[in-house]
Amino acid sequence: MYDALVIGAGQAGLSASYHLSRLGIDHVVLDANDRAGGAWQHRWDSLTMHDVHGVADLPDAPAPGDSRERANAVLPAWFGRYEDDHGLPVVRPVRVEDVRDHGGLLVVRAGERRWTTRTLVNATGTWDQPFVPYYPGIDTFLGEQLHTADYPGPAHFDGKRVVVVGGGASAVQFVGELAPRTDVVWVTRRPPVWRDTFDESAGRHAIELVQERVRRGLPPASVVSVTGLALRPQEREAERLGAYDRRLPVFDRIEPDGVRWDSGRFERADVIVWATGFRPAVAHLAPLHLRSELGGIALLQSGSDVQTATAAARDPRVQLVGYGPSASTIGGNRAGRAAAVAIRRHLAAHEGANVAGDHPRESAAAG
Ligand code: FAD
Repeated sequence: MYDALVIGAGQAGLSASYHLSRLGIDHVVLDANDRAGGAWQHRWDSLTMHDVHGVADLPDAPAPGDSRERANAVLPAWFGRYEDDHGLPVVRPVRVEDVRDHGGLLVVRAGERRWTTRTLVNATGTWDQPFVPYYPGIDTFLGEQLHTADYPGPAHFDGKRVVVVGGGASAVQFVGELAPRTDVVWVTRRPPVWRDTFDESAGRHAIELVQERVRRGLPPASVVSVTGLALRPQEREAERLGAYDRRLPVFDRIEPDGVRWDSGRFERADVIVWATGFRPAVAHLAPLHLRSELGGIALLQSGSDVQTATAAARDPRVQLVGYGPSASTIGGNRAGRAAAVAIRRHLAAHEGANVAGDHPRESAAAG
């Protein structure tokens, strides 16, 4: 029996666990991966620390700086040290299959194993839920289809004709590194919005747009999708080759050897790369019926900072971090703290919970 249980040990889950420990709240963290690193460990080898858009510090631990080293090595090593240094009670690999209410407590199940908890922090990110839109003929394509989650790096595509689908940061990076070495067709649903600079107020506005959707119970749009796109120095060669100008609207159907528009236009393809994003990995929460009629999980906002909206409107025992407005490394950090504070408040208001006093505990909680 725990006072709190965290599902997921990415940036958001680690932040939540750190703050739960500081508040003396007995908890455990269950993570599906067999080692530390959250989604970062699965990102492609050509994504360096120079390419990531700015990884926020973890509470009490500055993030590794800019370098040409692989993000999928540097960040997992940093997470692993963090878990050890703070004695965070992470158990892995455990893939949670469902969470159910049982007499007012939450029962978390993975295979034959069960944990009972008074409150829950869901920090499962999006990486485990890649999204590929349906187009007629998608199953007839004879070439290769890959999602961002499976992107194997640029060398894999040498000598192949590649269609990259999607208007986000991943698509821009893929076009940027593929165009100088192979033949690329880039298609997006909407013309991309380019930006030269990105100031803090634009960032705040973007996050507020996402929070407004979440407050209404709509599925969240990704924070990145509302911030606009920037070309970085590493993409300038592709820009010089005109790769970004040759963008097309999305095709209408897929044929065995390429993609076709209703106008009759046809582009041959050996590979289709679906850089079409991810959805929140929350299927295991379905038995709790947290979704609104509009398809998303509405979150309550208590303060003025939209990234601290974490409590599920339909069940305040459940906090979602790294979801909607907090789906970034900085948002995950803030939400982790807000969720821990909300849990302490919830436990204090409900009898029988084993909560420490108001003073943060110096040492981390044991597992
Ligand atoms: P994750 O890091 O995805 O961690 C979730 C954890 O939960 C994983 O370990 C997963 O295995 C586990 N899990 C999932 N389901 C279950 C389950 N059922 N049971 C148990 N465990 C489960 N944001 C930035 O701020 N800066 C960037 O530079 C940046 N670059 C990005 C680059 C790419 C290519 C992508 C796709 C995203 C990027 N983002 C960036 C977004 C950022 O990665 C995320 O917002 C943040 O890292 C996610 O942290 P998280 O803790 O929410 O999730």
